[in-house]
Amino acid sequence: MTSTASIPVFKPLIEAEEIEATRKAVELAWFGSGSYVGKFEAKTKEFLEADDCHVVAVATGTAALHLALLVAGAGPGDEVIAPSLNFSGVFQAIKATGAEPVFCDIDDDTLCLSPQSVESLVSEKTKVIITLDYASVACDHEALTAIAEKHNLRIVHDAAHSFGWRYQGRMMGSFSDIAVFSFDPVKPLTCIDGGLVVVRSEEEAIWLNEARLVGQSWDKSTLYKNTRPKTRDIAHIGFRYHLSNVHAALGLAQLEKIERIGETRRATCRYYSSRFSEINSLRVPQTDFADTIPFIYTLRVPAETRDAFRDHLEARGVDWGIHWQPAHNFTFFKDARKSDLTITERVGTEIVTLPLFSAMPESDAERVADAVMSFYRS
Ligand SMILES: *Cc1c(COP(=O)(O)O)cnc(C)c1O
Repeated sequence: MTSTASIPVFKPLIEAEEIEATRKAVELAWFGSGSYVGKFEAKTKEFLEADDCHVVAVATGTAALHLALLVAGAGPGDEVIAPSLNFSGVFQAIKATGAEPVFCDIDDDTLCLSPQSVESLVSEKTKVIITLDYASVACDHEALTAIAEKHNLRIVHDAAHSFGWRYQGRMMGSFSDIAVFSFDPVKPLTCIDGGLVVVRSEEEAIWLNEARLVGQSWDKSTLYKNTRPKTRDIAHIGFRYHLSNVHAALGLAQLEKIERIGETRRATCRYYSSRFSEINSLRVPQTDFADTIPFIYTLRVPAETRDAFRDHLEARGVDWGIHWQPAHNFTFFKDARKSDLTITERVGTEIVTLPLFSAMPESDAERVADAVMSFYRS
């Protein structure tokens, strides 16, 4: 008998190792920023081949973006250019700095931000470009870096989807001006909640270290030693954004299995694309998934069929998502400056996120693919 349990769109890979690591960290009973956080930073830095960078672990990806924007100098009166097709927390992070989001369009093939659209929006007020590798395709980092250099802008690379990917041979996060990762529960590598900021200068790393601990002055002698200094100065803004020791311990256990996480996710994505490529009206991600650890599998369907398709999936116990609703349509951002967003508008009506998780059973992937094919083949 086939299982009728529904297949979730996301599911973290939590196994005996993660539970054991968590138990040990809880028993250690140092819950602040401690020894596991130091180890997590060292291990991620090594994994990212970010030898000439500094990594600073924080509580969430959104916190990482907020701090990255602040360290890049975004503030009141400034503009930050970003693709409207991104997670809403990104735009809240921009707002939290006092700067304003400015929405650029995306490329129809990659669904990543269009360099032409970005450049058309650069103004006197522009301070930062937020770049994004969407789903399983890298954005044009070369073109975007050239635009930033030409106009003297900072780049905050939102690499929440691209942890562990390679771009032209280099690890994502190792070459950007500032890069940001998320380890939330649905990301391929999770700390349950966590984030990372990667910067190139020690000065920025020290500022971030202070800013994540409510602005308390840097004290290297107690850092990661499961203790805290008794007195400190505060010289700038800060937040309670540090990564906890327990979350770091779980993340370390996850990092041990990143190869398997990547392999199984790529296999599921390749299987999906091979099945769906038969149907002309469906658009699959424009990649063979090599050099990626896919976070989401985005299928593009004819807009007029999407509602009925989603009902069809649900009736077969297949969960789905939309990543994301374009942000320029939200009430809070409706007055933001923007370029022509024709492609974003259309893509926003076509995308469906299909179930994808690490070590997903083949039978689940088959059920998802069969559900898709039974709708579009008929
Ligand atoms: C998940 C995600 C974030 C935010 O990360 P959190 O850890 O959930 O705060 C930011 N940007 C993108 C593209 C994401 O997918």
